[in-house]
Amino acid sequence: MNQGKKLIILGPCSVESLEQMTKVTNLLCQLELPYLRTQLFKPRTNPESFQGLGVEGIPYLEKLKSIYPKIKFVMEVGSLEQLTLLAPHAHVLQIGARNMQNFELLKVVGKFLRPHHDFVLLKRGFASTFEEWMSSARYLIQSGVPKNKIILCERGSRSLTSPTGVQLDFLSALMAKDQGYQVIGDPSHGTKKSAFVIPMAKAILAAGLDGLMMECHPDPKNSVSDAAQALSLEETQTFIRSLDV
Ligand code: PEP
Ligand code: MN
Repeated sequence: MNQGKKLIILGPCSVESLEQMTKVTNLLCQLELPYLRTQLFKPRTNPESFQGLGVEGIPYLEKLKSIYPKIKFVMEVGSLEQLTLLAPHAHVLQIGARNMQNFELLKVVGKFLRPHHDFVLLKRGFASTFEEWMSSARYLIQSGVPKNKIILCERGSRSLTSPTGVQLDFLSALMAKDQGYQVIGDPSHGTKKSAFVIPMAKAILAAGLDGLMMECHPDPKNSVSDAAQALSLEETQTFIRSLDV
């Protein structure tokens, strides 16, 4: 699998079934992209919403790994317990927006890093200032994560004026790059509407950011979480093939 100059991370909002993940993994293989979103624990605002498959999903990932040995799992960890459980399976440890200031978690991430981990992905909290984001990145560094193994992700901040209540903050992303970090953008959570994900992804790349994290699903309308922003696999394929990355 080739990974070009830009980092492209694709996959569903959450792992739902082996069939779903097999279809998405097939797409990644066709695109020669290794990084697959494999979220087992979903931090949800609403306690009645799907919380993720949790440990039940681990056998699915083991099965995928046996069929597609080059695939790399990007997994969100929201607690020390999840970090302990998922770090052996993950190639990328993702700290989500809601946990950007979970300092006790940030303080231990470095202690879990092993050679099979490619990097740590730190998403920006949706109401966090630029300085708070940078401070959280420094917590990771203090925990033992080398700066060049941290990739930051701008995922849109709360906005009073945007029609979807969220707005991608390009200036902060560019300033984070200026501080020596690699920074990618998330046009899925950054727009919340599938019709605008591809235009926003183009804007992220045009702004000179280092890549994208995008949500896609074999049956977007029936995605268990974040259905409104999920791209189909066909749309995703056409878009990625159109890129020169
Ligand atoms: C995610 O990327 O799975 C996610 C939950 O996004 P965020 O933490 O940015 O809300
Ligand atoms: Mn999502």
